[in-house]
Amino acid sequence: MAHHGEDVYATLLTNDTYLPGALVLAHSLRDAGTSKKLAVLVTLDSVATEVVTQLKNVFDYVLSVPRIKNEAAPGNLNLMNRPDLHSAFTKINLWKQLQFRKIVYIDADVVAYRAPDELFELEHAFAAAPDIGWPDLFNTGVMVITPNLGEYYALSAMAQRGISFDGADQGLLNMHFKNSYHRLPFTYNVTPSAHYQYLPAYRHFQSSISMVHFIGSDKPWFQGRSASHGGGAYDEMVGQWWAVYDRHYRAATPSLQEPGLSTPTP
Ligand code: UDP
Ligand code: MN
Repeated sequence: MAHHGEDVYATLLTNDTYLPGALVLAHSLRDAGTSKKLAVLVTLDSVATEVVTQLKNVFDYVLSVPRIKNEAAPGNLNLMNRPDLHSAFTKINLWKQLQFRKIVYIDADVVAYRAPDELFELEHAFAAAPDIGWPDLFNTGVMVITPNLGEYYALSAMAQRGISFDGADQGLLNMHFKNSYHRLPFTYNVTPSAHYQYLPAYRHFQSSISMVHFIGSDKPWFQGRSASHGGGAYDEMVGQWWAVYDRHYRAATPSLQEPGLSTPTP
């Protein structure tokens, strides 16, 4: 049991294919020396028992949550070409986790370069970093959240009615927190793009990066370790993801060294 009023990092797993991501995220935070506990929200109807066992080996709390689907207006997801995000509203369950004081939510496709424990000291109820597709919006891959039932019910009502301009959590949460979000520095949620990189800025700010987030459908563990995008900043960041993976799983699972990585066995 979590002790009341605790701080946690939390991520989400809605199916088995993102397991390598969740494990790498957890190890990256631990390796960086975080003093906080780690939680993962899982939708048990679509996550295998073996996968839950692996999560329990690494996370302090494995919390079962109901899937929240966009049933009212899933069409907007096709605008993004991401029909796989049909269950993204499940993130709303974070606001219901009243056993925690603050939650730093982090997508499973993120690797931490350092543990951003200072985020728990923010006064603001909600904070997030800019999205590179539309920087006035925030990206929902890293969020500082204060659980609150009133917010939970408001967000659930929006989800039920399909109120989200992109059909996923990011559209919904940006609509809800439009005027009340505290903007975090980009270094907390660096989203590299294989198509556009601002290399001088990357070099300038490189040493202050806290977390890197692999947005889009090409996750490092789907691409395999030998995929290359020209050897630039993007490849460097993918390399950091693999470095954490290898530190914890490569020796144990030599058969998973090559593309087509599935479930690692610690
Ligand atoms: N997720 C998952 N399985 C999926 C899709 C999403 O577990 O098939 C979870 C996972 O935590 C993931 C988050 O939902 O990081 C958001 O999805 P994703 O990171 O793919 O969205 P993006 O950052 O690319 O917009
Ligand atoms: Mn993501």
